[in-house]
Amino acid sequence: MSEKKGRILTGDRPTGKLHLGHYVGTLANRVRLQDEYDTFLVIADYHMLTTKPTKEKVLESRESIKEVVLGNYAAGIDPDKVTIYVQSDIPETAELTLLFSMLVTVPRLQRIPTLKEVMRTQQIEQASSGLLNYPVLQAADILIVRGELVPVGKDQESHVELTREIARRFNDTFGEVFTLPQAMIGDVPTLVGIDGRAKMSKSLGNAIYLDDDPETVRQKVWRMYTDPKRIRATDPGTVEGNPVFIYHDVFNPNKEEVEDLKERYRKGRVGDVEVKQKLAAAINEFLEPMRKRRKFLEDRPDDIIDILRAGAARARPIAQEVVAAAREAMGLTTLTRESVMKLYCRD
Ligand code: ATP
Ligand code: MG
Repeated sequence: MSEKKGRILTGDRPTGKLHLGHYVGTLANRVRLQDEYDTFLVIADYHMLTTKPTKEKVLESRESIKEVVLGNYAAGIDPDKVTIYVQSDIPETAELTLLFSMLVTVPRLQRIPTLKEVMRTQQIEQASSGLLNYPVLQAADILIVRGELVPVGKDQESHVELTREIARRFNDTFGEVFTLPQAMIGDVPTLVGIDGRAKMSKSLGNAIYLDDDPETVRQKVWRMYTDPKRIRATDPGTVEGNPVFIYHDVFNPNKEEVEDLKERYRKGRVGDVEVKQKLAAAINEFLEPMRKRRKFLEDRPDDIIDILRAGAARARPIAQEVVAAAREAMGLTTLTRESVMKLYCRD
């Protein structure tokens, strides 16, 4: 195998389909870097439990695991290059999480912005200790395979920061075991939703999915939030912060067309219909190759199982080795007759 620059750890929760927000926040970077870096992609099913711990949701997540593989594959991830595995197939992650959780205070976890955000959007009144500990679990995901670079959306940046703190604290307390990972935020740190809300998210129902068919894309774009102050096509409109133009900037490669639309929009010389028709066409062109790639793997469901099996077979020994190194550094070794004698005869 050729020399790689280092290891990437990235991942998704199996809670549904992947959307354009996932693409610009993290998938684009994963795809771009998969040749340069030894890339590990975890499908984080323990994470799904932090917000949805019911039997029904667990069963649904099994279906979503397939979705996440298909979405990544559609986006251009090559399973021959990338190690794709299900988090709970690496149970050592739970042990590392336990060890790490001793190094983090409860107020530190309560300050993490995503906690409040998740509780608000998912209408959770009291966080379970599992939900509070979510970022620690994520630190274990990253460090258990010695991830060095972590492509994530902006919302996850604080989790990588906590991972660095944990790695530093562990190393200072018990000796150098972990390398401090680095977050890599996408070109669009957080993509707005079609409803104009700050984040495109499956739970907010404001997403365009990577496998939406052309008609669905047209309908969603048609419903998109634009400048609310603009009533008629002849009213001058605002381009800045307008979701339709944010999307044009990201997904329409025809920069001339985009500039022309913006100029006319500002002057009140273009209707929403034209702006949206051109946007839907651009997004559909962007998604078309992904739909084709997705179809290829969708027709081969057994391959998905093989990909996940091979992924776990590669990731698990690494995880076991890392947890063994952590235990060793902490002195959590299995007692032998000799080590006990040594302890008793110390002074
Ligand atoms: P959703 O909010 O749609 O339920 P999620 O945030 O739960 O999605 P995750 O599996 O937690 O999805 O996130 C996968 C990755 O995608 C993370 O790196 C996250 O930062 C990124 N991501 C998700 N939504 C967006 C977005 N709207 N813009 C940029 N990145 C995003
Ligand atoms: Mg999330």
